[in-house]
Amino acid sequence: MSIINVTKSSMPPFEEYIDEIKNIWESYWLTNGGEKHKRLESSLIDYLGVANIVLFANGHLALECVIEAFNLTGEVITTPFTFASTTHAIVRNGLKPVFCDIKDDDFTIDTKKIESLITENTSAIIPVHVYGSVCDVFEIEKIAKKYNLKIIYDAAHTFGVTVNGEGVGNFGDASMFSFHATKVFNTIEGGALTFKDDSLKNSLNSLKNFGITSPESVEFVGGNAKMNEFQAAMGLCNLKYVDREIEKRKQVVERYMLNLEGIKGIRLVKPQDGVKPNYAYFPVVFDGYKYTRDQVFELLKRYNIIARKYFYPLTSNFQCYKGVFDSTHLPVAEYIADRVLTLPLYADLDLEDVDRICRIIKE
Ligand SMILES: *Cc1c(COP(=O)(O)O)cnc(C)c1O
Repeated sequence: MSIINVTKSSMPPFEEYIDEIKNIWESYWLTNGGEKHKRLESSLIDYLGVANIVLFANGHLALECVIEAFNLTGEVITTPFTFASTTHAIVRNGLKPVFCDIKDDDFTIDTKKIESLITENTSAIIPVHVYGSVCDVFEIEKIAKKYNLKIIYDAAHTFGVTVNGEGVGNFGDASMFSFHATKVFNTIEGGALTFKDDSLKNSLNSLKNFGITSPESVEFVGGNAKMNEFQAAMGLCNLKYVDREIEKRKQVVERYMLNLEGIKGIRLVKPQDGVKPNYAYFPVVFDGYKYTRDQVFELLKRYNIIARKYFYPLTSNFQCYKGVFDSTHLPVAEYIADRVLTLPLYADLDLEDVDRICRIIKE
């Protein structure tokens, strides 16, 4: 039986990509804000319903750059229930991550536990919209205002998600989106920052290009994180199909729900009020089920079905962080990380395969 991976990258029809890249052989313009890069920026501003966007080589470097652009200092409040990138971006900027616990229902930051972690050294909150579920953006905004903190969202999972009709990239001071091959929308590798404050645009554009602000002036100690024309071309092609892809993902998710809802010991994430979802992931929490998460993972693997222990381990338990930063008050994050499994989910996943996966879990 052929292997079913946890995800499968969305790709446009081959001919469409070839058509899109053809004129690069006339322009000889391969990177540094070319025609495709410009078109992708304006298409994404429309699609995401945001004021500003800056494209990057990947989501992680986008996050590193915006932390730098805001000149953050000292401590940053974040969650350990995330991909390595979020915590690394903080630490690689010389800042200290202060881990906050997550909520038991949607796994986003528990806003009730933020204030007790704020000290005179805190400069920002970097929460994560987990699996496509949106953080409590209104409560986070209130706290940030009260203590004068910046908010940067890791929105890697929430491409196309809206809250009461508003693009999720409009909340906080900036949001980072990832366009990695495995995400709902991809540019092979890629990412973006969205933000309201126009004045941020120049510093971000120069930070991703060696700090260069004009041919003879270099104002920042920048890096190199530019998106190239071949990535942008992939984005332009994939963007045409993303709504259809999300619709197909929805069918898959509904089929999973039909199979797995109401089973003792199996917990699913509920839809959020006012949020238009993107069906990015299908997490299942095995909490008092007849098999543990690890047993289900192994069982599926025997049938060539590759689920993912995502997110496990917590970033606070990585070898590079364990014992370095305080990780003693994260009971919910620890509990969920030990029990959660994301099941295979991509647009072209056969509904019969979904039924088969669920049968294996149930039998
Ligand atoms: C994918 C991902 C990132 C990193 O994005 P890249 O584009 O792969 O650099 C960061 N945070 C989360 C939560 C992610 O899932």
